[in-house]
Amino acid sequence: MAMVTAAPSGSKSTPLRRPGATDQQPDGPIPNRIVLAMQGVTKSYPNGREALHGVDLTIPEGDFVFLVGPSGAGKSTVIKLLIRDELPTKGVVLLDGRDLGRLKRREVPKIRRKIGIVFQDFKLLPNKTVRDNVGFALEVTGARKRDIEPAVDRVLRVVGLTGQAGQLPGQLSGGEQQRTAIARALVHNPRLFIADEPTGNLDPLISWEIIQLLLRINELGVTVLMATHNAEVVTAVRKRVVALENGRIVRDEVGAAYHREG
Ligand code: ADP
Repeated sequence: MAMVTAAPSGSKSTPLRRPGATDQQPDGPIPNRIVLAMQGVTKSYPNGREALHGVDLTIPEGDFVFLVGPSGAGKSTVIKLLIRDELPTKGVVLLDGRDLGRLKRREVPKIRRKIGIVFQDFKLLPNKTVRDNVGFALEVTGARKRDIEPAVDRVLRVVGLTGQAGQLPGQLSGGEQQRTAIARALVHNPRLFIADEPTGNLDPLISWEIIQLLLRINELGVTVLMATHNAEVVTAVRKRVVALENGRIVRDEVGAAYHREG
């Protein structure tokens, strides 16, 4: 499993590898593993509203993907399908090769842990310190106490919050609260890190810090999917952009701007 570790400052960070992964095979480079595949996904809600129609989306390991589109385009529905809050009406959603529609009930928590997710409104526990917010995420999975502390220390280092570990969320700035949420989402070493409008409540400068952090986490080997309306950030960063409109993917471009160019 890819481990999130802090890169020594001043050194170039090395992408983290799954055990056994190699850059080259005798016949040339091997394709990256597929973390997420949506195949022919249509989602209709019980009221008859079709939120997604025939969506095909493949995200290989190590990708950084912006999911963009106007309100009502279907971005949240994609995320709900990925965390298995909803099931597709048609088509399949494969996370790390597992068909989410065919999981046994007891398998669901384990598969959900393959995803780390952060939201616009942070969703931190107000009465727990930064350290305990992050540690609690491991505690509920039955992790051993002696394993929790080093894992928490490691992700707090990654997000730059070691000095604030003892503070409560109410004593932190918005940016620090989002960093805490990011640390919590990373502590399981997820296969896919989802950021749902993570800069929606932050001012532009802090938003940039959060984006830089997500890019760095991606450099450490974590696959990132970020749903956002932040056109300035998307256009400046030039990563893969998947655009939804009326439940369909209308654009899937690498190195793209928020809006279609040319
Ligand atoms: P976005 O996140 O891009 O704003 P959503 O995925 O929330 O888009 O919504 C896509 C469409 O599905 C919208 O028309 C929305 O009204 C509808 N929708 C979303 N959730 C539900 C629901 N639980 N029941 C019925 N319709 C829904």
